[in-house]
Amino acid sequence: LHLNGTILRDAAGRKIGAVAVLHDVTRLRRLEHLRRDFVANVSHELRTPVTSIRGFAETLLDEELDPAERRRFLEIVHRQAERLGDLVEDLLALSRIEREVEAEAVRLEPGPVAAVVQGAVEACRPAAKRRRVRLSAECPADLEASMEPRLLEQALVNLLDNAVKYSPEGGEVEVTAAREGGEVVVRVRDQGPGIPREHLPRIFERFYRVDKARSRELGGTGLGLAIVKHVMQAHGGRVTVESEPGKGSVFALHLPG
Ligand code: ADP
Repeated sequence: LHLNGTILRDAAGRKIGAVAVLHDVTRLRRLEHLRRDFVANVSHELRTPVTSIRGFAETLLDEELDPAERRRFLEIVHRQAERLGDLVEDLLALSRIEREVEAEAVRLEPGPVAAVVQGAVEACRPAAKRRRVRLSAECPADLEASMEPRLLEQALVNLLDNAVKYSPEGGEVEVTAAREGGEVVVRVRDQGPGIPREHLPRIFERFYRVDKARSRELGGTGLGLAIVKHVMQAHGGRVTVESEPGKGSVFALHLPG
């Protein structure tokens, strides 16, 4: 807490009162702390692929390798470069949405939910096909919500991406949308491994992963759900999750009326 004080005096210089101003700096300190943590995390996340690319590129330059080995090393370099690209894309998406929320630049307008659902499902079809995951969607044609369709579609794509990624081969991912009381709720249900209860409150934090190695292996950046959370805040809504190990997960986007 910072305290600034001034004594008030009348024309003759007599004390007639005082003004005290209290500044709450704990919030600022906390934000500064979060920012520092974030920078440290980003640096760490970037270092891993960079180290790998440098190492394999040096080996490729310095050593005589047989064609099969060369190819294997080049594939690693390529995969790590893709990973760097994904990280940068997600970081940009996150900072863009944060800036828009801060500037109150997100324009919400009533629009059809079905178009957003359809757009997101189409975007995720190729990934689902590769993993032989069945993707189905159900949404009433006349369901409307106040939204920024581009952002909402991005949030839904992130949820679908995870659902497909964490599904067993041949699994099923279902999207449903409905009006529930005063809200419009879009749900994504999967048959993946589920999430242990103690991790649930933290999975929306940047870079938080239940299983770091597995997330990396599947090409995750650890930022997908943080982006979803921001998008929902920009909509005056929220994202919720119900999950149990062995029983799959259900993520839900809640939009006000
Ligand atoms: P990532 O890029 O690692 O998937 P996210 O922010 O999208 O990052 O998700 C954070 C973590 O939450 C994941 O690493 C994973 O542990 C867990 N998670 C998210 N979605 C699911 C899901 N559908 N099934 C199981 N675990 C999930």
